[in-house]
Amino acid sequence: MAFEQAEGRPEGEAPEGPAEVARRAQAGAKEPAGADRAAARSTDASSAPRTPLAPPAAPSAPGGSAGAATPAARARNAGSAARSDCDVVIIGAGIVGLSTAYAITRAAPGTRVVVLEKEPGPARHQTGRNSGVIHSGIYYPPGSLKARFALEGSAEMAKFCAEHDIPHEITGKLIVATDRAELPRLHSLIQRGREHGLPVRELGPAQILEYEPEVRGLAAIHVGTTGIADFGAVAARLGRLATEAGARIEYGADVRTIGRRAGRVAVRTAGGRIVRARALVNCAGLHCDRVTRLAGDAPGMRIVPFRGEYYSLSPARDSLVRGLVYPVPDPAFPFLGVHLTRGIHGEVHVGPNAVPALAREGYDWRTVRPGELAGTLAYPGAWQIARRHWRYGTGELHRSLSKRAFTDAVRRLLPAVTADDLTPAPAGVRAQAVLPDGTLVDDFLITEGPHTIHVLNAPSPAATASLPIGREIAERAVRLLG
Ligand SMILES: Cc1cc2nc3c(=O)[nH]c(=O)nc-3n(C[C@H](O)[C@H](O)[C@H](O)COP(=O)(O)OP(=O)(O)OC[C@H]3O[C@@H](n4cnc5c(N)ncnc54)[C@H](O)[C@@H]3O)c2cc1C
Repeated sequence: MAFEQAEGRPEGEAPEGPAEVARRAQAGAKEPAGADRAAARSTDASSAPRTPLAPPAAPSAPGGSAGAATPAARARNAGSAARSDCDVVIIGAGIVGLSTAYAITRAAPGTRVVVLEKEPGPARHQTGRNSGVIHSGIYYPPGSLKARFALEGSAEMAKFCAEHDIPHEITGKLIVATDRAELPRLHSLIQRGREHGLPVRELGPAQILEYEPEVRGLAAIHVGTTGIADFGAVAARLGRLATEAGARIEYGADVRTIGRRAGRVAVRTAGGRIVRARALVNCAGLHCDRVTRLAGDAPGMRIVPFRGEYYSLSPARDSLVRGLVYPVPDPAFPFLGVHLTRGIHGEVHVGPNAVPALAREGYDWRTVRPGELAGTLAYPGAWQIARRHWRYGTGELHRSLSKRAFTDAVRRLLPAVTADDLTPAPAGVRAQAVLPDGTLVDDFLITEGPHTIHVLNAPSPAATASLPIGREIAERAVRLLG
């Protein structure tokens, strides 16, 4: 059901480090297959060497400089700069791409940045279709990129919103156990929250009612630092700040081919526009694996799109929910579960669930792209997911197709809700990276090829964490420029 990403591993198991996931993705990296091979075939890309992905470079201090270059390297770079239209081309104007553009203009003023976005404006996909929650970081295992960037990012996001007058609020949230079997997991989350230094408070059934009079549970945690924000507005502001600092954002620019020559990349859009750059940053979200192949790199994973469907509580009944109420996530699945969210504009959303989307931008069951669907069905990892999670998936499908079943599930947390109280609301689609063995990549995944940086897994809480993620990528991009 309504799912953002939670850690998909048993409690207590050590998280895979980013280098390890990158290594596994690299081990799974193959030549593009089927529909993707056709997509990757372009005059430029076919002549480029298929380079294996380098594991991510060790992170260094945010905002760091590129380091000392030798005179020969400087001369080479000067030649390459002269032959390029810009230094860095970023594909995708979601919150990650725009945060990266913003961070590059801050870390290395004067760097020529171009952002290419296929839609007519920013944030038209994941960034503009999510729960709008500033996550505290409580779910993510210590040592993971998610923990690091969410903990840093949640505080920064609130500060950024305050500074730029963007609607946001630190509301706190409840994570509620409704079944005895969930209590050990709830306690593990409390421990984790404390390890992360978060303000967490254990609640019994009576104390739950003090926060949420209509919510029922056996026990709960209150996390004080969770909040809500308008991430679409954040993305737009990041774009404006980047533009004011000299970056250029081109909308309606659908990148179709990518070629590589010594020292630079050349990107061609559907409209025939060519942009030559010294480095390329792929922030294409639901299309990031395809863009990686276009660039001649092998992603070693595939995006399997999972739609998250929402309902709104009717205005007459939205007083049933005061703030944010989440179930205890099931560690067998990488999603947080259907939650109740009072959004920044006052409306209450219920969702999202998690069902396979029949297109990468398949926001309803009617949207089917046969080529994309065939690509997913030809991918061994997709079958592994179906084999492992068929029971859970069947329940999700049932709740997607039957409003009554969905309402029954919500009633576990909010017994007073009825099907008549719920109205369908716009859905989102998650870009979930899946390895060939069916592993749902849990942590953020950023890899590098020669002159390229690919953001291959940026699911929730990447909107919360977008400022430190952007800085991390900016630092790598500046380093690539030498
Ligand atoms: C249902 C749902 C709920 C979520 N809830 C939360 C939450 O509460 N809190 C949170 O922190 N996170 C949440 N997330 C996650 C968050 O929305 C994403 O992590 C974040 O928006 C990712 O941003 P992005 O820039 O990587 O991707 P996107 O926003 O998808 O942007 C990618 C962009 O690339 C463009 N693009 C793709 N291909 C091309 C091409 N060939 N040429 C040009 N442009 C291209 C696309 O048009 C798109 O604009 C949720 C996600 C979903 C789906």
